[in-house]
Amino acid sequence: MKKSDNIILIGYRGTGKSSVAEVLSRVTGRKTLSLDTEIEKKYGPIAEIVKTSGWEKFRKIETETLKSLRIKGGIIDCGGGIIETPENIQILNKKGKVFWLKASLSTIHKRLEGKTDRPALTNRGDFLQEIEEVLSRRISLYTNAADTAIDTDGKSPLKIAYEVLGIRSQTKICIPVVEKTESSAIAALKSANLQADIIELRVDYLENIDTHALENIIDSAEKPLIITCRLQNQGGTGNLTEKNRQDLLKTANQKRVDFIDLEFTSTTTLSADSGIKIIRSHHSFENTPNLVDIKNILCAMRSKSGDLIKYIPTANSINDNFKIFQILEENKNIIAFCMGTKGHISRVLAGKYGSFITFAAQTPEQQSAPGQVGLDELVHLYQFHDIDFSTKVYGIIGQYAEDSKSKYLHNPVFKKYGTHAVFLPFKTEPGEDLEQFIQNFRKFRFSGASVTIPHKEAVMPLLDQIDDQARAIGAVNTIKAEKGKLVGYNTDYIGAIKALQEKTSLAGKRVLVLGAGGAARAIVYGLKSELAEVTIANRTFAKAQQLGDEFGAMVQEINRLDVGEFDVFINTTSLGMYPETDSTILSSFPQQSVVMDIVYKPLKTKFLEIAQNCGCEIITGEKMLIWQAIAQQRIWTGIEPDYEFMSQCFFEIED
Ligand code: NAP
Repeated sequence: MKKSDNIILIGYRGTGKSSVAEVLSRVTGRKTLSLDTEIEKKYGPIAEIVKTSGWEKFRKIETETLKSLRIKGGIIDCGGGIIETPENIQILNKKGKVFWLKASLSTIHKRLEGKTDRPALTNRGDFLQEIEEVLSRRISLYTNAADTAIDTDGKSPLKIAYEVLGIRSQTKICIPVVEKTESSAIAALKSANLQADIIELRVDYLENIDTHALENIIDSAEKPLIITCRLQNQGGTGNLTEKNRQDLLKTANQKRVDFIDLEFTSTTTLSADSGIKIIRSHHSFENTPNLVDIKNILCAMRSKSGDLIKYIPTANSINDNFKIFQILEENKNIIAFCMGTKGHISRVLAGKYGSFITFAAQTPEQQSAPGQVGLDELVHLYQFHDIDFSTKVYGIIGQYAEDSKSKYLHNPVFKKYGTHAVFLPFKTEPGEDLEQFIQNFRKFRFSGASVTIPHKEAVMPLLDQIDDQARAIGAVNTIKAEKGKLVGYNTDYIGAIKALQEKTSLAGKRVLVLGAGGAARAIVYGLKSELAEVTIANRTFAKAQQLGDEFGAMVQEINRLDVGEFDVFINTTSLGMYPETDSTILSSFPQQSVVMDIVYKPLKTKFLEIAQNCGCEIITGEKMLIWQAIAQQRIWTGIEPDYEFMSQCFFEIED
């Protein structure tokens, strides 16, 4: 498709043309024109035109408007019936490349149910019947008009947009089969057939395997198959003798499987004319060496016969992943990522940096290497099939980032709003690890991050700019890469204030903040900005005093508190958090006060339970979390996600 060609979207109502047009425009920067909107601008609502002048008149107007469109290299989103007029098909084909977005009857019905803004297309009362009738009549017309047909069932607008642009992640998902018996291996292979791009049969996991059984297993593969008889010193199980191994590899060779994985140190040779691709592999279970050493190893690996090389070290720091990204950027025909919890991001970003394969376990029990990502997580949470070189990278920087729930909030939002991005845990230690990570974050042009314990203050001197609120609070929980600079923000205070304002105004209210840690700083700042009368009480009185002095708030000792003096109570301490769920910092509240706890595990803390029993209005901790995440999305992408949607994502998270 030439740059000057328009992308033209046709298809029945409810096939997602408008959402796909919007995403296409965001991804490519092309201008979008909706034919229906252009008609309505000039002639008023379509329903009115049809009501007063009939469908025939409307179709004439449609053709005239289509002819008059002046757009080059843009996106044209057409009404569902555009193909009813033969002249329109010729005009469309002159104006650009025509994509027909298809959907099944039931999908269209589900998407259109309850929509009343379009006139009926037939006189029949039954909606489903109308769709069926019109759709079957139009199928040949759509087929004639379209250069390409795209199935939209079950796909996100982004995925569809990528199909329109002909972009597909090159990286394949390989499911390893690590079973002990012939029958269980065949069962696992059959299930992998449905989900994998490639399947790896780990022959060394099979016990008492002979060549006949191997042939049976190979015969049940319907996807390209890699045969691996891993040597014990390279992570193999040790089930095979060298003789066994040689015989089994020979069988695989004769069966003409697609790939055979041979350790680069292995002396096994296979007949060159088999057409089977050889993967030369090397695993390092201790560490990820420095770049010079890695390059030397790769050079040695390339000196052996083979079609692909597979280099898999172990990440001892998040920063090890970036060595692999550099290697991937500089090499073709390579499989590379890091093992271990700290290598998580390299397995997902294998799609961005161009590893030939990433591995995913069908179930946690079927992991074939430490840190392997689950298939469901890779495909559904991280949308791996949409990840490519242009995917923007976001994540959470924290010492325990792997436990953070934010990936379950931000990834679904990216998917829903068509943002071509992924959100990952950046497990980072304090000190040098953090400094180096921020350097890598810049070098590899990551787009943004959440920041959590213990880096909210430490990250500040590593950034180029801090916005006024984050500077006043003294902590950054959000980073955005803006025109080559890293800018720090704080959205914790926004989250807390939004959650409170759903239940109470704040100006002039007497608010007691319990705790004087990082979260309390942001909340006290927010409350003061809203002109509340703030009092701080904390276990370590000196810290409360310091915070009070900094923000002009009053201070009281916890054991001298008179709860009757306050209208609003906020627990910002970690007291009452799982597993110590019986603890609470206060045990009575005046009736009808507003009580918020920012701890969200459990949601109803002891603190809130008592408050509710005292007849107070309570605010649970996830509200602040969600509102602050909404503010982060606004900073990163300019999109304000729907609260209800994010709340639903939060409650779907399994502990
Ligand atoms: P932090 O900086 O470590 O502060 C912890 C605070 O809790 C300090 O004031 C500390 O008092 C107090 N504390 C800890 N154990 C205590 C105990 N046994 N008795 C009395 N006070 C105790 O932590 P933070 O970042 O402020 O986070 C605090 C809590 O808020 C955590 O549970 C975190 O998960 C939650 N949080 C929630 C959100 C949200 O969006 N909902 C956002 C941020 C944080 P001392 O000064 O005496 O040590």
